[in-house]
Amino acid sequence: MEMSLPELTNDIRRLFGVTDAKCSARVTFHSRNASVCYRCGRSFAAGDVMYRTRVGHPGFGGAWGYRLEPLCEGCAPRNCRYQHPTSCASCGRQVAIQIDWVQRKRVTCSDECKNRADTLARVAARASSEAARRQKVCIVCGDSFTATRADAKTCSLACKQKHYRRRLLGGKS
Ligand SMILES: [Zn+2]
Ligand SMILES: [Zn+2]
Ligand SMILES: [Zn+2]
Repeated sequence: MEMSLPELTNDIRRLFGVTDAKCSARVTFHSRNASVCYRCGRSFAAGDVMYRTRVGHPGFGGAWGYRLEPLCEGCAPRNCRYQHPTSCASCGRQVAIQIDWVQRKRVTCSDECKNRADTLARVAARASSEAARRQKVCIVCGDSFTATRADAKTCSLACKQKHYRRRLLGGKS
């Protein structure tokens, strides 16, 4: 008997007594923008430490995925171990991340802040590699200079003319 995937998923849901309402309620990811505690729904006040804790979510086809959901200090499970609170790389809020096997490059409070921090890091990396590319040594006088053009070889108009004259005379540049 052939079954389509949605039918199969519905069967599994019925088997575990998961109604659509229950399911969609459980698949609300607070970690996307992290304004309230995942468990009690209270907003985080300024200065509150957010405890990002692994929470399982039913995914497509009954598979489970884990996300780091925001919990307030009162709701954070006592048996969980957390990293020392660190400022979110994007908004500066204090975040303690549950210790697990995932090595994180930077600590952020939410998906929104993570995306923003990733974008900023990408832009900064591109800008610094661009700046490094424009840092050159003049082929005439040997001084280092910041080129305005990627193909610049000389530091100044004087050196450029000197270089041009040398080339006309057939000398080495
Ligand atoms: Zn709470
Ligand atoms: Zn943040
Ligand atoms: Zn020069």
